[in-house]
Amino acid sequence: KVSVECRNIRLSYGKTEVLKDVNINIEPGEFFALLGPSGSGKSTLLRLIAGFNRHNAGQLLVDGKDISTTPPWDRNIGMVFQNYALWPHMTVWDNVAFGLVERKLPRAEIRAKVEAALDLVGLSQYAKRRPNQLSGGQQQRVALARTIVIEPQVLLLDEPLSNLDKKLRVQMRQDLLSLQRRLGITTIFVTHDQEEAMTTADRMAVLDHGVVQQIGAPSTLFDYP
Ligand code: ADP
Ligand code: ADP
Repeated sequence: KVSVECRNIRLSYGKTEVLKDVNINIEPGEFFALLGPSGSGKSTLLRLIAGFNRHNAGQLLVDGKDISTTPPWDRNIGMVFQNYALWPHMTVWDNVAFGLVERKLPRAEIRAKVEAALDLVGLSQYAKRRPNQLSGGQQQRVALARTIVIEPQVLLLDEPLSNLDKKLRVQMRQDLLSLQRRLGITTIFVTHDQEEAMTTADRMAVLDHGVVQQIGAPSTLFDYP
């Protein structure tokens, strides 16, 4: 289990400051939510942790090590995208196996890991389907399986439930949380849905215009009615 620390992170796109001196310490094994309205900088911060963006100032430490000193292939950070980004021409099995095949693991090991990941998300019977033959919730699970199969040290989720209808979203929250608890992976969850953040996160940060407005356990941030 690893920590993720954002120290005085700044990032601008041209003249627009998108992250302004962001300080967040995420504990090993924590389920941490980034909450804020659209445009507040949540995805930018997540993409930065994933290594897709570079910050202009500050430090980003994973397990105490500055990620700018760790090459991308050594970072072992997994990200689930809002639109799932599954390969449409590949079966569920091949989608989940993809990262392992790329890493050139032995075939027997790939088989065992893919089986375990599909089992974990309850999709073992769907291995031969293609993504368009699955419901939205099932596609979401494939995206999750494909990410956890590489055994990331940090799991990043960018609005992972926003494409699902309300009923499924509420159910998937619980599934996601119990999966996170079983795996114990440090998880950062981006959402604009306050209720979603409050019902899942150990702690959360509220972002607005690139500034952290509040940070702490849900119960300490807002008054429950
Ligand atoms: P959120 O995830 O909270 O909706 P984003 O991190 O996507 O917010 O965006 C934060 C701000 O940065 C927005 O004002 C957005 O328009 C701007 N932004 C995001 N990506 C880019 C980009 N590649 N180029 C320029 N501006 C961007
Ligand atoms: P949900 O009720 O979870 O949204 P759906 O109503 O979309 O699910 O699908 C119900 C079942 O039918 C699921 O098991 C799904 O995998 C299967 N299914 C959906 N679309 C197809 C398809 N085009 N071909 C084969 N099976 C499908």
